[in-house]
Amino acid sequence: MSATPRIANVLTIAGSDPSGGAGIQADLKTFSALGTYATSVITALTAQNTRGVSGVQPVPAAFIAEQFDTLLDDVAIDAVKIGMIAGREVAETVRECLQRRRPRWVVLDPVMVAKSGDILVDDEGIQAVRELLVPCVDLITPNLPEAAVLLDADTPRDSDAMQALLPRLLELGAPHVLLKGGHLDGERCPDLLGSAEGSSWLEAERIATRNLHGAGCTLSSAITAHLARGEPLVSAVQHAKVWLSQALHASERLSVGRGRGPVHH
Ligand code: PLP
Repeated sequence: MSATPRIANVLTIAGSDPSGGAGIQADLKTFSALGTYATSVITALTAQNTRGVSGVQPVPAAFIAEQFDTLLDDVAIDAVKIGMIAGREVAETVRECLQRRRPRWVVLDPVMVAKSGDILVDDEGIQAVRELLVPCVDLITPNLPEAAVLLDADTPRDSDAMQALLPRLLELGAPHVLLKGGHLDGERCPDLLGSAEGSSWLEAERIATRNLHGAGCTLSSAITAHLARGEPLVSAVQHAKVWLSQALHASERLSVGRGRGPVHH
């Protein structure tokens, strides 16, 4: 009789979104939907709905470390996704946590601004994420405006400009970069996946929906879940993209709030 395979344990280190579309809530639903066991360390509370963020309350850095250490004292984590890091002190703390105990896979979504335009991370926090966290993760998943901020460059407007930015993103120190092309104009929204070995385009149709709140969080947590399940990185990213497309189609059936509705996890 073959042994029952163990269910992978996945962790999100991110901010809370009470509306359930983004942040911790999106990550936990995504991890569960993809057959992994979901755990979380909360870095910040936000007060938000589908129309915007009215407040942010960062969790004290020492208590973020306490959440992480207490959890990992007991639970073996296969992969971790990092989302909202509100400021420098939080970035320093998360780096120290990962230096003490590093799960096999670490994915960083360099969250900066919500779709509503509300700022989630201050300038010092962005600089700290670039200097302290990017070099110690396996994969970063910036969208085009985030990549431009990370590099102090212009936002790419076409696929040539995306390709030109990739080596500079890799120089920041993460061995793999998924540069998401969703902000390009046009029918297609290709993403560019790159490493020192080369790069490839991952095509996807543009799904016409207003319900995009949390799409970025959801993609990075889906990649993390697939990695935790033992998939190679390229196929983890491909499967996560297919799953996000299905989630975006399904979001049309949701009736959540009057603003930018959430992705259906
Ligand atoms: N709120 C939190 C806590 C988040 O982590 C994120 C992630 O990017 C957002 C809001 C923004 O979500 P969106 O840009 O999809 O609206």
